[in-house]
Amino acid sequence: MASKIDSSENEAERYSELFQGFSKLDREERFLRLQEMGALSPEDVRFLRAGAPVGLDLAEKFIENVLGFFQLPLGVATNFEIDGKPYVIPMAVEETSIIAAASKTAKWVREHGRIMTSMHGREIIGQIQIAKATDFQNVREAVKRNAAHWVEIANRDVASGLVRRGGGVKRMDVRQVERGDGGVMAVIHVFADPCDAMGANIINQVCEYLKLPIEAATGEKVTMCILSNLVDTRLTRARVEMVGLDDDLMERIEEASLFAQQDPYRAATNNKGVLNGIDPILIATGNDWRAVEAGVHAYATQTGQYRSITRWRREKNVLVGELEAPIVLGVVGGVTTLHPTAKMCLRMLKAGSAEELSRVCAAVGLVQNLGALRALTTVGIIEGHMKLHIKNLTLGAGAEEREIPYVQKRLEEILSLHKRISLSHAIEVLKELRAERARELP
Ligand code: NAD
Repeated sequence: MASKIDSSENEAERYSELFQGFSKLDREERFLRLQEMGALSPEDVRFLRAGAPVGLDLAEKFIENVLGFFQLPLGVATNFEIDGKPYVIPMAVEETSIIAAASKTAKWVREHGRIMTSMHGREIIGQIQIAKATDFQNVREAVKRNAAHWVEIANRDVASGLVRRGGGVKRMDVRQVERGDGGVMAVIHVFADPCDAMGANIINQVCEYLKLPIEAATGEKVTMCILSNLVDTRLTRARVEMVGLDDDLMERIEEASLFAQQDPYRAATNNKGVLNGIDPILIATGNDWRAVEAGVHAYATQTGQYRSITRWRREKNVLVGELEAPIVLGVVGGVTTLHPTAKMCLRMLKAGSAEELSRVCAAVGLVQNLGALRALTTVGIIEGHMKLHIKNLTLGAGAEEREIPYVQKRLEEILSLHKRISLSHAIEVLKELRAERARELP
């Protein structure tokens, strides 16, 4: 055990050294550092240098009416140490400043504390609806009587692969849901452990398979079968603890957290900020980000009001942050092992299981949230965000390569002077620069 701890400490130190000054390096130097960490292989580097090309034939297999690919920039967040293990976090995202904020905040957390994660429950949920239940009590009795047998045949005939891996269908239950017209529907829940897959297709097949036996045993008509993305039976938690922070800063973060707990208008934006950290990892690893988004937002309304999925509070001199949400992912299944970039990103992450990937996402989401709250309660979001956004404005105005440094510098001056900046500023600065150049020409 001691040697395991030693080796992960050494690994963490090695990563921390190799991440020093990472954002200032050029791309080739970043490749070298990531190879030194064992995060990229020489083939990965060749693939990335070539622009991570994916054949259109593969796209034809994924979706319909294919025209081409839509590319997003792929980067890595640095400085993350989660449960004592260092990570290189791949993120595919178009929004400026997300990766910078995640990396900077992860470094701050590493200097002052730690990130711990866990998973609570393993089961995903499939739903079988009987829209017009004529006798709900009878359905309840039938489910009670037959559940063990249905679980057994579903495992034998549909989910045997999961059973072999230690998962599979575990149990069944039934809920009564008001129709709103005086009647009720019966909703049968099927719970299954999908092991290292997200499990959507598997559980859908299980539910479809159980349709006939359920109809036979209940005498009712099954109207539809589909998984639920509100997976409150498989929750991922992340916890950040930090010491040695300024008391005033801790109070500000606590107040910002209360705001997001109590006010749905703020909660929506708070949770968007959390998902800024999560979605890019889901995209990079070929996971279904719509499923996670749906689950997270539904879970955020569990108390009857939409609230933040994160909480920050002071416990004496410790700042404690917590996130809890359903983040149901796969390291197999879907396109995770079919898309070459997703495969490479999963290797880079070195997350050996769906659970570990989910815990990493929860940790990055929580740290991203902390970065946003720290900025919002101190310098404001504009300073960090807009400085980076200047790059986009410069390009948006149509600046050519040699004009970019001048326009960026001028826009930074305007920002610090007026505390605001827009595309029209960039267009104006570029116009002035070009007019000046034209005057200088003989
Ligand atoms: P999948 O259909 O590709 O099935 C996973 C396969 O991996 C199974 O055949 C399983 O036997 C195999 N497998 C190999 N090793 C495994 C391991 N260690 N653990 C578990 N399985 C292993 O994928 P899925 O996870 O069933 O479904 C995911 C896909 O379903 C995603 O593409 C998602 O977009 C889509 N989907 C989502 C929804 C939704 O969220 N509402 C609905 C329908 C479909």
